[in-house]
Amino acid sequence: MARTAFVAGNWKMNLGRWEARDLATAVLDGVRGVRGVEIALAPSTIWLSEIAQVVHGSSVTLAAQTMHHAENGAYTGETSPLMLVDIGCKNVILGHSERRQFFGETDDIVNQKVLSALGHDLAPILCVGESLDEREAGRTNTKVDGQIRAGLRGVRAEDMASVTIAYEPIWAIGTGRTASPEQAQEVHAQIRSLLRALYSQEISESVRLQYGGSVKPDNIADLYAQPDIDGALVGGASLKPESFVAIVEACGTR
Ligand code: PEP
Repeated sequence: MARTAFVAGNWKMNLGRWEARDLATAVLDGVRGVRGVEIALAPSTIWLSEIAQVVHGSSVTLAAQTMHHAENGAYTGETSPLMLVDIGCKNVILGHSERRQFFGETDDIVNQKVLSALGHDLAPILCVGESLDEREAGRTNTKVDGQIRAGLRGVRAEDMASVTIAYEPIWAIGTGRTASPEQAQEVHAQIRSLLRALYSQEISESVRLQYGGSVKPDNIADLYAQPDIDGALVGGASLKPESFVAIVEACGTR
């Protein structure tokens, strides 16, 4: 089954207001004419409305980097799915390893957020991945399997068309160390077989799986050439328009 490539840029807690606007504008200019790839930009929450104006009317979608599961309430500092939809978000990154590591997001919390996102027409990008210790101990598959089973608990088959899974080995995020295409493919293939077991052959073949972890213009082609890698979740290289556009181009056609 042909899957449309999907590349998302996670800007994390970077860029001032005008830098963010300029970056989004340059990305839009750069990707004009690229076909066959969906593109999402995830600025920090405070710039979502700013970037919503820039991408409005284009095919580039707006993504949030996280959200609270509740619609409203006494959750100081948080942003609700209703607010994200209101501002024009189509996607939300959930369970990023930095959220898990620095903000205490457990698999159960991530699952609540995934269910809430789907309930509000936000398409989640569910992030999973092992630490270096886990990889070296041979626990990569167990870790990733567990995160996916927990993250997708209660997600109905009919909602899986909206779900993207990003495999991001923690040891490759922001380190300049990328999983080899073979290492990444092996985990992606395992994720697909888990989706087959949890749902169906059809769903396992249609869900998009992104790779993330020091993706750059010079390694994306080999990663994207793998049969089960459908695009990328890009951190550092999404902060420079030329490198992000080159990554998008490698997953699409002009
Ligand atoms: C990320 O944080 O999702 C990521 C993949 O970062 P980087 O590309 O900088 O490794």
